[in-house]
This record gives sequence, structure tokens and C-alpha cells, in this order.
Amino acid sequence: MRAKKRLGQNFLQDAAIIAQIIQLIRPEQSQQIIEIGPGTGALTDHLAEVGVPLSLIEFDQDLIAPLQQRFRQHKHVTIYHQDALQLKLNQGSYLVVGNLPYNISSPLLINLLKQSNHIQRGVFMLQKELVQRICAPPGVKAFGRLSVMLQHRFDCYAALTVPPEAFKPVPKVDSQIIELIPKINPTEVDITSLEFIVKQAFAQRRKTIRNNLKKWFSDDELQSFHIDPQQRPETLLVTQYEQLAQQYHAHH
Ligand code: SAM
Repeated sequence: MRAKKRLGQNFLQDAAIIAQIIQLIRPEQSQQIIEIGPGTGALTDHLAEVGVPLSLIEFDQDLIAPLQQRFRQHKHVTIYHQDALQLKLNQGSYLVVGNLPYNISSPLLINLLKQSNHIQRGVFMLQKELVQRICAPPGVKAFGRLSVMLQHRFDCYAALTVPPEAFKPVPKVDSQIIELIPKINPTEVDITSLEFIVKQAFAQRRKTIRNNLKKWFSDDELQSFHIDPQQRPETLLVTQYEQLAQQYHAHH
């Protein structure tokens, strides 16, 4: 089957890499699994072996019949022809995994973080550069909007780097596995407020936090959170962004 670029289709084809990814996923430690973008089933075969309920979310109509055929003997595998961006986790706690379509990785992760109370653990393949950004600590250049949003809800770990040759077709960039573990006691923050504040704070990276947030916070207010108004947005701590978002939410 021809891979569709617009659906971010790069299929894993290196058995050794697939085995390493499955080891990182540790599917046997879960009650139920969701795989986003199973594609032609490179990871799915191994996930299905575990025998726990496995839901597959695949957007490409052309892949649905082959998946149904491939897993017709597996009663615990359910295939959904659905856009993962619309995924709603209503109950239970899931191990969510996937070699994600790169063009929708960021919105997909934001959708998942809003439902992190239903996530036991997440293991995803992303562009390496994106993994590096998500896992970056404050103070380094890569620290940005996605780092704050994801680190607010998850402990984020960068794992195995995967070279382009492991896929067909061969992508232009390196990939990397990221492991997301929901925080046991995440700070209570209205997510929409956090998204808003972080977006404003990083609107102009080279400007100070005072400049980026001047419509919403005075110097005194910033200082009350131990923020020097002259700081650049990438030097604030995640907890400081959470505090700013709480304050913003309380007044809007
Ligand atoms: N898991 C397979 C593998 O590792 O070989 C395929 C990975 S491929 C990078 C991404 C998969 O996500 C493709 O099968 C693609 O059709 C599917 N996909 C793309 N957009 C999607 C969406 N919005 N919702 C669900 N699946 C999507």
C-alpha cells in the first residue's frame, strides 16, 4: 500500500527497533491499551499478544479492512475508524501508545493531557526535536509552550532514539520515544488559562516576561511569584506558570 504523506504515514519496519519499543511500552503491565495510528500493525501485533483489551484508533479508511482481517481472531481487539484528535477517554485508565503522525503530534498530546486522569502511562514515538522540546528543563532554549503544558501534567522522559532507516518511507528526521507518566498530584489549574498564559508568555521569545504579559500582570504581581520582570519566558519554572495561570483564572 502507498503511504500517505498527509496522514504522516511512516511505517516501522525494523524488527529489532520494534522489539525495543515494545520493551519500553511494557504492555503486560496494563489493564487496557489504546494504540493511536496502528497503520499496518507493526506494533499492534505485539500489543495484541498480551491479551488485554486493545483499542485501535486509525483514521485511514484504507487501513481499516486490512486491520480487521489481521486481528479477526483476536476478540479483545477493537478497531475504530476515527480521528485521534477527537478521542475522548470517559472511564478507566489506559496505557496509550503510538507511533504518532508527526503533523498532528502536538495537538494530539494536548488533547491527551487534558484527559490525563484516564491515562496510566503514555509511550509515543515523535520527532526527536519535539521530544527534546517537551522534556527540556527551564533555562534552556528548547523550553517552550509544549514543555510547560506537558510537564504540568506528566513526568516526561526521553528514551530510545530511532534513525530514519527504521521506517518506510524513510522520513527526513530522527525520531525518539517519549514516556509520559501522569503526576500523582498535579497542581490544580484551569488548563485553558494555562494554555492562554503560556501562549502569551512565549509570544515573543526574545522579549521579557514583563513585556509579554504586561496586559495581565504588573511587575509587583510577577515579583510576588518570585519572577523578575526582566526574565525571558524560557527561564520561568513550570510551577511559576501554574501560579500565573491560577491568578489569571481567578480574575477572568
Ligand atoms: N503504527 C504504525 C507503525 O509504527 O508502523 C504506523 C505509524 S504512522 C507514523 C502513523 C499512523 O497514524 C498511520 O497509520 C496514519 O494513517 C495514522 N493517522 C494519521 N492521522 C491520524 C489521526 N488523526 N487519527 C488516527 N490515526 C491517524
